Amino acid sequence: MSDTLHPQTLAIRAGREHTSYQEHNQALFLTSSFTWETAAQAAALFSGQSKGYTYTRTANPTVAAYNQRIAQLAGGEQALSMASGMAAIHAALLTFLSAGDELISSRSLFGTTMGLIQNQISRFGINIHYVSPTSLSQWQAAISDKTKVLFLETPSNPLGEVADLCALAEIAHQAGALLIVDNTLCSPALSRPLEFGADLVVESATKMIDGHGRVQGGTVIGSANLMKEIQVYMNASGLTLSPFHAWTLLSGLETLHLRMEKQCANAAKLAHYLRDHPQVNTVYHTSFADHPQAALIAKQQAKGGIIIGFEVKGTQQDAWQVIDKVKIFSRTANLGDVRSTICHPYTTTHGRMSSTDKQQAGIKETLIRLSVGLEDCDDLIADISQALGH
Ligand SMILES: *Cc1c(COP(=O)(O)O)cnc(C)c1O
Repeated sequence: MSDTLHPQTLAIRAGREHTSYQEHNQALFLTSSFTWETAAQAAALFSGQSKGYTYTRTANPTVAAYNQRIAQLAGGEQALSMASGMAAIHAALLTFLSAGDELISSRSLFGTTMGLIQNQISRFGINIHYVSPTSLSQWQAAISDKTKVLFLETPSNPLGEVADLCALAEIAHQAGALLIVDNTLCSPALSRPLEFGADLVVESATKMIDGHGRVQGGTVIGSANLMKEIQVYMNASGLTLSPFHAWTLLSGLETLHLRMEKQCANAAKLAHYLRDHPQVNTVYHTSFADHPQAALIAKQQAKGGIIIGFEVKGTQQDAWQVIDKVKIFSRTANLGDVRSTICHPYTTTHGRMSSTDKQQAGIKETLIRLSVGLEDCDDLIADISQALGH
């Protein structure tokens, strides 16, 4: 389908194929393998002479429909999907890294991604340098002739630091390295990092794309050449997404833009409310006009996103009290859901980091993270207000 269509149309119409039954919704092909009429047909499929499906670990029509739709939304040639966001990040990194290579990584990463890089990938002779996502001079200084990949998330979670994608793409490409961006916090509805020079984008589809906290999934999007290599790695490692989850994510994509529109508006309103609250010190949200990187945000993101970080006055105990007192917000670490969620990063999402690392990353004991959902914003404000004791 033409990519001149608007995103909201693509989110509903792209990648649709129906069977001879002409079903209106996308069919769910819950099958592990596919059969052939003849041995010759099988041979042609396996040798790549003809196109078709053989085995779901390799490819499946429902997963392919989701991949086509999200590739168009992300502005990429192709997409491949895995069992979770972590599986997608694993595939994107390990397809292009071998022993002796160097990886430069932002130090503001989702906790499990940090664990994957620090404790797993590091075991295979890959050298890793950690840098601040916003310091171009640190990225530049870490480059060597062995650098293969630059990896980051933008904006960072939950402090909303934004990395300059065009500048980082230039640094990566001058070194012959790939720029891989985890775009989960924006989703394709808010940002398309491929347009700013990223080589690969990864999404945890578990978050905004599903949007209803039902299934896990992850997607890598990029050029056909790079995706061909990831396909080989995905098939060999069996990281593949389940067709049922792809089918669920297809319906998630249909409302993604509409949900993000409203959730971002709710988040901006709540962030401004918090900023004026006497019990609150600092509020982090990328919708603020006086955000130190406001110009970059306006260039790279359609909206400010749905994640808010805020520091309450007092101690960790005061932060915990707010979390314990909310009545509408769910106490859970998930984000991107239609239901608003609240958590204490210091002891949950960032709990495994050393206190020095947390300090360096700006994660304080008094910090609370909200993922703002689709409820009426006045109810959310009233809930936070009573929890803060006002
Ligand atoms: C949740 C998340 C992941 C991991 O995704 P899963 O689907 O939970 O494996 C990766 N990156 C970011 C930014 C996330 O928020």
